[in-house]
Amino acid sequence: MPPGNSQRFSASGEISRCQLSVRATKLVHVGYIPHHRDIGTGFLAASELNRPSHPVDQYQRPLRDLRISVTDRCNFRCPYCMPAEIYGERYEFLPRADILTFEEITRITSLITSLGVSKIRLTGGEPLIRADLPQLIGMLSSIPDVEDLTLTTNGYLLEKFANQLVEAGLQRITVSLDSLDDEVFRKMNGRNFDTEPVLKGIAAAEKAGLSPIKINAVVEKGVNDHTLVELARHFKGSGHIVRFIEFMDVGNLNGWNMEKVVPSREVIDAISAELPPEPIEPNYPGEVARRWRYVDGDGEIGVITSVTEPFCGDCTRARLTTDGNLVTCLFAAGGTDLRGPMRAGASDEELVGLISSTWQDRTDRYSAERTATLNTGDERPRKKIEMYQIGG
Ligand code: SF4
Repeated sequence: MPPGNSQRFSASGEISRCQLSVRATKLVHVGYIPHHRDIGTGFLAASELNRPSHPVDQYQRPLRDLRISVTDRCNFRCPYCMPAEIYGERYEFLPRADILTFEEITRITSLITSLGVSKIRLTGGEPLIRADLPQLIGMLSSIPDVEDLTLTTNGYLLEKFANQLVEAGLQRITVSLDSLDDEVFRKMNGRNFDTEPVLKGIAAAEKAGLSPIKINAVVEKGVNDHTLVELARHFKGSGHIVRFIEFMDVGNLNGWNMEKVVPSREVIDAISAELPPEPIEPNYPGEVARRWRYVDGDGEIGVITSVTEPFCGDCTRARLTTDGNLVTCLFAAGGTDLRGPMRAGASDEELVGLISSTWQDRTDRYSAERTATLNTGDERPRKKIEMYQIGG
């Protein structure tokens, strides 16, 4: 039996009792968030319990990052994520009662930091449409072991919220912007929105002090690949880092096939013809983007090669869905329910045990397997969670 299975919750939601000898009282979730080494608060360090403080998965990968989807709703209808013909006016998103509250998100985040997570990214759907999001950022930024708190947004509402986000404790931000060409952008966001509000949002984020600002562009052949050099040129010298992402088969509905993928190598070649860059070292092991620096010293770009050069071997990311499932891969079919046990009264140790055993059982390496089967022709369709439910 894989490690930790005895601590899983059954399909009925009944709690399997953790075999732990110590009990901790619940965290106070609003206001003071106790540090996991503050024994006096009742929140015990993982090292004091009968499990590893920093669990590794079945491929010896540690757990370092948590991406939290705060809403399954979005104001865009990007065809590669939430196509308008499927997610129309009548589509039923999660009912309010199913969505994790800020207190629940903060509790899970506090607990998961005791297992080695220090980087938190808020995603959606579109996170800025979750009501009172700065309040959640304030709660998360108060957790002592959260060293890096960021957010990925489509930028449409960023001008309105940039100052509040910074005041609440947000440190940096990633803005999705697939093209500066309004015609292309309108097509890619599915809502006929121009780039202007997004560019204003980026300017507001810069003014508010968010740094660095990363600009994410999903590259789809025949859709926006002719506008990439313009995007790189626009942000060169701004201090912002444009990152070009290979179009991926996230979810089941985006019509992905290899013909629509522009390999990152070709993106770099296209940019090199006008704005030559050179490769540079990653900032840390497991960094998602491959970094390139303009040879004239005027900035940096990145490429995310998830299709042509998968990086599963270094993947340390877990995801928390809007309704409280802990998911260990962007391409997973499901996750471990944390909301059910939490609402049924699970203790902190029980939840930490559940998170830890889920990570220890992890065998995910979807992109590596997909790329291998593309090469062998042995491709088998799998059912996956949709991207708007899990965050990018
Ligand atoms: S495919 Fe899954 S395991 Fe591989 S890098 Fe992406 S999220 Fe990580």
